[in-house]
Amino acid sequence: MVFEIFAGRRRARLRAQPFPPVWRAILERNLAFFRRLSEEDQTELIGHIQVFLAEKYFEGAGGLELDDEIRVTIAAQACLLLLHRKTDYYPELTSIIVYPTGYTADEVRHVGGGVWEEGPEDRLGHTASHLRALVLAWDAARRGAADPTDGQNVVLHEFAHQLDFENRNADGTPALDTHAEYLAWARVMSAEFNELRRAEAAGVATVLDGYGATNPTEFFAVATEAFFERPRALRARHPALYAELRRFYRQDPVVFSSEGLATSN
Ligand SMILES: [Zn+2]
Repeated sequence: MVFEIFAGRRRARLRAQPFPPVWRAILERNLAFFRRLSEEDQTELIGHIQVFLAEKYFEGAGGLELDDEIRVTIAAQACLLLLHRKTDYYPELTSIIVYPTGYTADEVRHVGGGVWEEGPEDRLGHTASHLRALVLAWDAARRGAADPTDGQNVVLHEFAHQLDFENRNADGTPALDTHAEYLAWARVMSAEFNELRRAEAAGVATVLDGYGATNPTEFFAVATEAFFERPRALRARHPALYAELRRFYRQDPVVFSSEGLATSN
């Protein structure tokens, strides 16, 4: 309890620190969503980034030399998931390990149509419950931030897993406030998960990436990517899922998404 009071004060001090202008320039340059956030949300996000960068340990791997651009670009996407909520800043996470590009790992993977394969896979990111680390490929993290509407965002994906771990179980259900919320979550998520599994088995493309059919944990991470990256499409085709995620994230990304707006390529 005493520790929590000190941590709370330290974090309040960190949030109130002046934000270096070069970091703000990185946000404006690399994060397509940043300029579309309200000024209030920008301020809140910047506060969270300061705490995040002070508390998490970043490590470069595979020859990557870390710099502020990498740290700030990753932190900003991670902290987008924390807006409007009381947060303990990913308490299950200590380190973020960043590779220059995708890296190879051995794992079992879903290759579509209900077929599973075991072997080395190129990965863009990874985290696991009790690992206390999160691994990212910098090129994918940067791409996810620059193109916020392609439905793919490895940083949002991996940090959604971390939110899932906050209540100890990696089960696709993050910490919710009330029993009624858990019931509603279970009802909506299991129906949507089963629908995605059926679509995957039938080879039908949906707004959600088929990887979400792997298990409920991946479903939550994939649904989070779609929620922030393709909110209009998700709201139109999966209104119950969109409503559930909007309640959990306390945000309505339709408001700040550039999805469907004309771009100059
Ligand atoms: Zn995942």
